[in-house]
Amino acid sequence: MTHAQTEKVGAKTKPGLCDDIVPDPNAGGERPYFPECDPRFGEIPPEYAALDGEEVGSGLPTLGKVGRVLPIGYRDATGKLHREFELVDWTWDVEEELGELAERNQDMSMSAYISEIVGRGLAKLGELDFTKLKRSQRRLVVSQLFHADVLYVYTWIRIAALGKHVRFDEFECEACSFKLDAFAGDLETLEVKAVEGEEVPTAEVELPRGFHYGEAEVGRVTVGPLRWAFMETADASILKNPAKFRIASMKAGIVGLEGVDNGAPVVIARDHARQMGPASVNRIVAAIDGIGGGAVFEVGGECPKCGERFRRAIDWTYDSFFGRSSR
Ligand SMILES: [Zn+2]
Repeated sequence: MTHAQTEKVGAKTKPGLCDDIVPDPNAGGERPYFPECDPRFGEIPPEYAALDGEEVGSGLPTLGKVGRVLPIGYRDATGKLHREFELVDWTWDVEEELGELAERNQDMSMSAYISEIVGRGLAKLGELDFTKLKRSQRRLVVSQLFHADVLYVYTWIRIAALGKHVRFDEFECEACSFKLDAFAGDLETLEVKAVEGEEVPTAEVELPRGFHYGEAEVGRVTVGPLRWAFMETADASILKNPAKFRIASMKAGIVGLEGVDNGAPVVIARDHARQMGPASVNRIVAAIDGIGGGAVFEVGGECPKCGERFRRAIDWTYDSFFGRSSR
């Protein structure tokens, strides 16, 4: 195993830039967190840096290589698919504007705030000029994008705003209990599952237990990737309850039922879920996750003592991703 492709980090902090960071009134007067300006950042041995996706051996391209191209894509009113996007210049003005928005809407959910960030951060999506849209229009477009695409844009905004490194705390190797130091993961090395071709991916799922839907006996369903609107409407109680979350994502992800072809949208009710039972629900949810695509929020590495490989999940929730709670 070679580390030739690892990102070399931790060489030095940037004194000029780091000294200029002003306290952020939106964070109680604390200075915003920049990984590069964390004194601990300089101590990180390069061996613990995130490994390139190719080295992990998955064969998936990395975020840095895919670039600013949506993993699934956005279809305009004429049905034309757009995948390339551009971001606005990420300035203090933009940060301040978003900070004020959060201040005015204290009860805004994280998903709604991510929609605001993505809507404000996008300059162009295909032919759509976000800078000419009203805030409510931007929100609407973002909510109709696929979940994977929204988080993908959001990751590029994080890179534009704070750089590509995320900090991981010290942890113990599961194999040999060796204490690994904190390290920096490189967001541009995240693996990306992108759709090939123009079609929105779907999957057929054979159910261990079927259910009655009107007159039909359904034993097989078709699922598609979730849209961001699902996250926006899933309230906090659903997000915190894994069982509720699975049911809600199943309802949102089913796009077709075997033997039901009346042109009406599929509406899965609680009773349908009850009939099919957890095994069927879990299989459907796994299929939805499987075709979701987008960036895989994990970095990989190797224990320097025993050589065991590890994967660490990146917490992309706003506070963690944008460093508000990682000080
Ligand atoms: Zn180890």
